[in-house]
Amino acid sequence: MYDIQRVRDDFPILSRQVYNRPLVYLDNGATTQKPRCVVEAMVDEYYNVNANVHRGVHFLSQQATDLHEASREKVRTFINARSVNEIIFTRGTTESINLLAFSFGEAMVKEGDEVIVSAMEHHSNIVPWQMMCQRRGAQLKVIPMTDEGTLRVDALDELITDRTRIVCCTHVSNVLGTVNPVKDIIAKAHACGVPVLIDGAQSTPHFAVDVQNLDCDFFAFSGHKVYGPTGIGVLYGKEQWLDKLPPYQGGGEMIKNVSFERTTFNVLPYKFEAGTPDYVASHALATAIDYVSSLGMDNIYRHEQELTSYAVSRMREIDGMRIFGHCGGTVQPLNDASPDSSATAAVATAAATHDAVISFLVGDIHHLDMGTLLDRLGIAVRTGHHCAEPLMRRLGIEGTVRASFGLYNTKEEVDILVEGIKRVSKMF
Ligand code: PMP
Repeated sequence: MYDIQRVRDDFPILSRQVYNRPLVYLDNGATTQKPRCVVEAMVDEYYNVNANVHRGVHFLSQQATDLHEASREKVRTFINARSVNEIIFTRGTTESINLLAFSFGEAMVKEGDEVIVSAMEHHSNIVPWQMMCQRRGAQLKVIPMTDEGTLRVDALDELITDRTRIVCCTHVSNVLGTVNPVKDIIAKAHACGVPVLIDGAQSTPHFAVDVQNLDCDFFAFSGHKVYGPTGIGVLYGKEQWLDKLPPYQGGGEMIKNVSFERTTFNVLPYKFEAGTPDYVASHALATAIDYVSSLGMDNIYRHEQELTSYAVSRMREIDGMRIFGHCGGTVQPLNDASPDSSATAAVATAAATHDAVISFLVGDIHHLDMGTLLDRLGIAVRTGHHCAEPLMRRLGIEGTVRASFGLYNTKEEVDILVEGIKRVSKMF
């Protein structure tokens, strides 16, 4: 079973104090804390293995290369890709999407074409597409959203035309916690021959992802949000797509032969990985994947769902509380997962469920005031537009306070949050 105290002991930072109070870290949507094993994997590699990968005949280089390539295989199994050729290491979700928007735009998008994103995207799944559309003379279209924070997937029937080149959608909203029915979106797009990118920055930390089951064409996520290090992320792409796309950056590693007249490019995945990769971070990401896998993604999912349900119901006690999204406060009931189906299968089939993120405002207290005063109580939450300004505009607000949970958060911490919000509210 999930032993939360043992889990917390794996994260040294959780026992520190801020302002002489125990830290209550509820900013996991921005980044997660690192278990000891991840930090130790990095220290160990720098102390004992460090050498540049791929081009050395010497022992250390080969050992570093083996670790780096074993990490690629680990990522492949984590998201169940078909081949390691489909796993490209990047700096994070943002770089993954920029890579794809550039390469895809170069090869596939012409003047008058269309790209579809959703109303609840993070800026990193809007701006690279917008920049590419401007370069190519294409148009950006938007899947609308209901007031409750559910995407209007039915609108895709009208939005997709014979000029649509790609649909880009987040798996889980970093603001609302909505788990989008991406399988339906992918099926609809595929029925029209259109590929789909899923932004998995907020899904990979919370439940098991199977890219073959989703049948997405591209999938992006960040290491630092799944308890791994900063500076490493992944772009998954179906091999038949990646084969068709040109490189993003030029340099070492991504070439086969170079002359001043002509360069030929390396095979997948190296074609998209110019320069020295962050091989220490890739190894640490693999260690983080081992860590979450040892806890079990389904157990993490259940734990966080229980915590979110509890938090939503407790927060609704507070006068003037407005929670955004969350369709009237329901999260995916745990008993929806039958004994035969995993909890994650329940997520995949539900039309729209909610994940470990709660965005809220209380009365007319400014989000920044609430966040700053909660911080003084040792509670770390995020405030502002959460890199989703178009979504804020859709909701008619400037920003929210966001509490986002990780695998190590507890009901006691939710209670501290609720008491903190009540205390701050009384001051206004
Ligand atoms: N997409 C979503 C949904 C996110 O929540 C984030 C991070 N907040 C990103 C993309 C960008 O991730 P990164 O900054 O790690 O590149």
